Amino acid sequence: MKDLRGSESITLHIGLDDIDSPEGMCTTFLGALLARRLAEAGYEFVDYPYLVRLNPNIPFKTRGNGSVSLHVRVEREDLEVIEELVKSYVERLAERHGKTDATAVLVVGSAEPLREVYRRALVELVSPYSVRRLLKAVGARVIGGRKRGVVGAAASIGAYPLHSYTYELLLYRPLIARERCRGVEDYVEELDRLLRPYIFANVDYATGRVLATPHGPDPVIAGIRSVNPLLLSALAPRLCEAWGALMAIIYKSNQATGQHLTLLKSIADVRPYDSVVVKGRVASSPAVIKGGHVIFSLEDSTGRVECAVYRETGHLARVARRLKRGDLVEVGGGVRVHRGRVTLNVEYLRVLKPLPHVELRNPRCPRCGHRMKSAGRGKGFKCPSCGYRGRELKKVVHLVPPLLEPGIYLQSPSAYRHLSPPREALGLYSVSTLPIPDLFLHPPVHKPFKISKG
Ligand SMILES: [Zn+2]
Repeated sequence: MKDLRGSESITLHIGLDDIDSPEGMCTTFLGALLARRLAEAGYEFVDYPYLVRLNPNIPFKTRGNGSVSLHVRVEREDLEVIEELVKSYVERLAERHGKTDATAVLVVGSAEPLREVYRRALVELVSPYSVRRLLKAVGARVIGGRKRGVVGAAASIGAYPLHSYTYELLLYRPLIARERCRGVEDYVEELDRLLRPYIFANVDYATGRVLATPHGPDPVIAGIRSVNPLLLSALAPRLCEAWGALMAIIYKSNQATGQHLTLLKSIADVRPYDSVVVKGRVASSPAVIKGGHVIFSLEDSTGRVECAVYRETGHLARVARRLKRGDLVEVGGGVRVHRGRVTLNVEYLRVLKPLPHVELRNPRCPRCGHRMKSAGRGKGFKCPSCGYRGRELKKVVHLVPPLLEPGIYLQSPSAYRHLSPPREALGLYSVSTLPIPDLFLHPPVHKPFKISKG
């Protein structure tokens, strides 16, 4: 639309990727800084900033394989200035942290042309070449993007609008204070007890590990995941104060949605690095190998694939040991190549139709009801209690109910990938709150603060 001065309001999507560095810079941090700058300049966000997780099964992913996108209403005449701003953020970072592959992509108007990039990047290995060609065709501006970063940056734009999502409150430490804040883990555990399942994937109670705090150098103090952004914004001031956070922001995310495991394939079509769902019968009884990992093979009408359930998946590995040959199951996971063999690393298991375990038992005595004993080969049975003999009696078929009931079985929390739906959040729906009530929780954004040229 045009206002009286003739300027035209348009939607701008900015995708960022490959900004993580070993020194602890991360894409979400740059995204938060840039988002604040745009908000200070008075631009309206049409949705929360996105934290988009992609196929966790590709070998050369950036840490956590997360990319970020921002979605703002801007004036067309401001586009160049904003592009310069994004460029300066990315370049400053590249200088300081030696990141030559840090990438930003800017797309004006609909994000729809990049939808397919997002869909594919969730489940397979996407070539940067094909994405660069598409970006050129849609007139996108690309900053950096010489390597794989262009795939993530474009995919995070293509994710807009997310239909299945959760939220994450990210709190950042002051850049100078690199030592860990004290007491964060205890605080997170307390919050989790209070608010679970509305906040989730914070603690693995089986191992006592707190999952909401990063390990290694990271500007993030903690990330609290929730289905409700209002709950997160209510928590933010208290957490910022308790932990001395520099900045807090809420991202909308495809985390915990299981969106990478929606593609059902025939076993013959399974390719390395796919995130995939296959359905079939257990073709070999599970074997527990060295290290406590469970291996079994799965068969459909097109072929056979070896499935591996790692010990680290905890609960899931224990369940997998109970599978029986012939059980009809659905398996979701990532395809890896190990010593020339294709293996499906199982992330979840859905038991569709377990085979009853068939046992042949001796018949009961027709006279007194005791279980009979064999009277010798071909001689029928005799009763140990009353002595009754039955030459014509046969063994009876007894169906032992299967140990595994139909249903879904998930990994223990410490094995969660970002995209895995956690057990405690199953069946919860995220609250939609648009327009965004409060995006920049800490410190407050004072606007407007026009971005100037030069
Ligand atoms: Zn008897």
